[in-house]
Amino acid sequence: MIEKAKTVNFVGAGPGAPDLITVRGSELLKTADLVVYAGSLVNPEILEICRDDCIIMDSAFMSLEEQVSAMAVSAETGSSVVRLHTGDPSLYGAVAEQKRLLEERGIEVRFVPGVSSLQATAAALGIQYTVPGETQTLICTRKGGRTPVPERESLDKLADHGSTIVLFLTAGQVKEATDELIKGGLDPKTPAACVYRASWDDEIIVRSDLSGLAEAMRERGIDHQALIVVGKCLDPGEASSLLYDSGFSHRFREGSL
Ligand code: SAH
Repeated sequence: MIEKAKTVNFVGAGPGAPDLITVRGSELLKTADLVVYAGSLVNPEILEICRDDCIIMDSAFMSLEEQVSAMAVSAETGSSVVRLHTGDPSLYGAVAEQKRLLEERGIEVRFVPGVSSLQATAAALGIQYTVPGETQTLICTRKGGRTPVPERESLDKLADHGSTIVLFLTAGQVKEATDELIKGGLDPKTPAACVYRASWDDEIIVRSDLSGLAEAMRERGIDHQALIVVGKCLDPGEASSLLYDSGFSHRFREGSL
């Protein structure tokens, strides 16, 4: 008899709206025996599709070892285990260490991607992060805090690229972050925005410029669960991609000009 692989599925829950989880993620949740989820960020409404007898644990109250042990014991008995992460598991999630410890116990780890708050924020703002002729680079980063960021990635250094910048985990330090970007050479009038709880029912959008963003966010009481976007992408003017330009040839279309 072939032994069934003992597996834990790491699933991206999406940014909050319950219909922004993938079909694959949703199917895994429906059949799960155990779900460990990040209670501080994942919308609990998403868990309504779980079976009534599914065991649901909030990782906020558990150490890494407790989480891994609960998932491993369950997977070892053949149960279907989901580790539900906010947005996409690949961004600012503590998945690498969970994967390592589970694999050390002989458990296979699989990933199901999710819609990140990065994409939900662009959707809320109605923008694209890459702007033809302006920037083709998106920097996702955060301000160093209790968890450090390498010195070479300090915001004043990253400002020098003039690229679109998206700041995770920084809403509580927005003044320090915007000051640092200005110190790094960005014009204080550079467009800036913040989206609080992108895709949730109580989503809030704040638009400002770099020098005014901290105050604008303070007025709305936003200091967590928000992404900050900085750059011309928020006010791109007439820029348009060559992709659909009538004079531009590519693999599928011969230019007509
Ligand atoms: N893996 C997640 C990010 C986890 S880090 C993702 O892909 O989205 C947690 C940070 O993500 C928060 O501090 C906040 O900056 C951002 N975040 C998560 N959900 C958000 C949402 N719905 N709207 C805005 N920002 C969000």
